[in-house]
Amino acid sequence: MFYQADAQRYQKGMIYRKCGNSGIQLPVLSMGLWHNFGSADVFDNGVAMIRHAFDNGITHFDLANNYGPLPGSAEENFGKILKKDFQAHRDEMIITTKAGHLMWPGPYGDGSSRKNLISSLNQSLKRMQLDYVDVFYSHRYDATTPIEETLQTLVDIVKQGKALYVGISKYPLNEATFAYNYLKEQNIQCLMHQDRYSMFTRAIEESVLPNAAEYGVGFIAFSPLAQGLLTNKYLHGIPEGSRAARPDGFLKAEQVTDEVIAKVAQLNKLASERGQTLAEMALAWTMRNESVSSVIIGASSVKQLNDNLKCLENLSFDSQELILIDRILSGK
Ligand code: NDP
Repeated sequence: MFYQADAQRYQKGMIYRKCGNSGIQLPVLSMGLWHNFGSADVFDNGVAMIRHAFDNGITHFDLANNYGPLPGSAEENFGKILKKDFQAHRDEMIITTKAGHLMWPGPYGDGSSRKNLISSLNQSLKRMQLDYVDVFYSHRYDATTPIEETLQTLVDIVKQGKALYVGISKYPLNEATFAYNYLKEQNIQCLMHQDRYSMFTRAIEESVLPNAAEYGVGFIAFSPLAQGLLTNKYLHGIPEGSRAARPDGFLKAEQVTDEVIAKVAQLNKLASERGQTLAEMALAWTMRNESVSSVIIGASSVKQLNDNLKCLENLSFDSQELILIDRILSGK
C-alpha cells in the first residue's frame, strides 16, 4: 500500500532532547530493530511499525550488523522499507548501525579490529542501500583489540564520509573516558554512549551516565522494558509468541522468576494508580534524568508501539513514587 507520511508527525507530542553537547536533537523514544524485523518475522508488520513510528515523530532508528534473525536481515528489511517508503525522508532520520559482535565465521567477523569494523560497515551500507549512516557504533569494548585501533577506525570512518558521527556501546567507564578523549583529540565527536538501562538494570546511574554527561556525550538507553519483563505480559505466565517463548528470543524463560514477577506485580499496581500501564511508567522512569537523551524501545506490534508512545503524556514522578519504586526494586 502506498505510504504518505503524516503531515502532523511533529505536532503529535513527541519530545526531543539534545544529544549531549551536540547539535542533534533526538526523540526521547527511539525505535530499535534488534528483534521483530528479521527474515524470521513478518515483513509487513515491520513496515507498519516503522511507518507508525515515523508518523509519531520517531526519527531515530537503531540497528546493528547482526540484528535479525538471520543476522543482517533486519538491515536488509530496513533498507527495503527505506527504499519503498522513506526516500523523501532520509534527511529527517538518524539511522545508526554497529559492529563488534560475531557476524561472520573466521577471525575477522567478530571483535573491534579495523578489519572487522570497516568490512562490517561496508556490508551494512549495502544491506540498507545507504551511502552513509548517521552514527556508527563500536558495539562493545573488545579487550583483545588495542583500543586505539578501534577508535582510530571510527575516526577514519567519519573522514571517509561513511558515518556522520560515531558512538560507543557497552564500554566500561575507564575505556569510555579514554574513547571520549581520544576522539576529541582527533576532532571527532563521540555523539552517543549506548548501554542497558531499565528499572531492573541500573548500574550506569553510578558512573557511566554522569561521566557521559560531563563529557557532553549523549546517553542512549537500550532494553528499557527489560525485554518485556517490565510490562504486564508475564504476570500470569509466559504467553505464546512472546520473546521469552521464542527459541530465537534473547530473553530466556529462566529469567521470568517468581521474584521478578512479584516486583512486576507491585510496579504494575503503582502504574495503574498513576493512570498508566506498567510499560508507560517504566519508560517514563528511564527518561526522568535529562542526561538520558533517548530510550530505544523494541516492539512486536503497532499496538505495543502505540501503547508505549502514551508514556509521553506523563513523564513526571513525585518523590514518594520514586521512593516506593526504589523500595520495590530493592525487594525490601
Ligand atoms: P525493550 O526492553 O523495549 O523490549 C522490547 C520487547 O518488550 C518487545 O519486543 C515486546 O516483546 C515487549 N514489549 C514492548 N512494548 C510492550 C508493551 N507495550 N506491552 C507488552 N510488551 C511490550 O527493548 P529491546 O530489548 O527490544 O531493546 C531495544 C533496542 O535497543 C533494540 O532493538 C536495539 O536497537 C537496542 N539494543 C542495543 C544493544 C546493544 O548492545 N547496544 C543490546 C540490546 C538492544 P514481545 O516480543 O514479547 O512482544
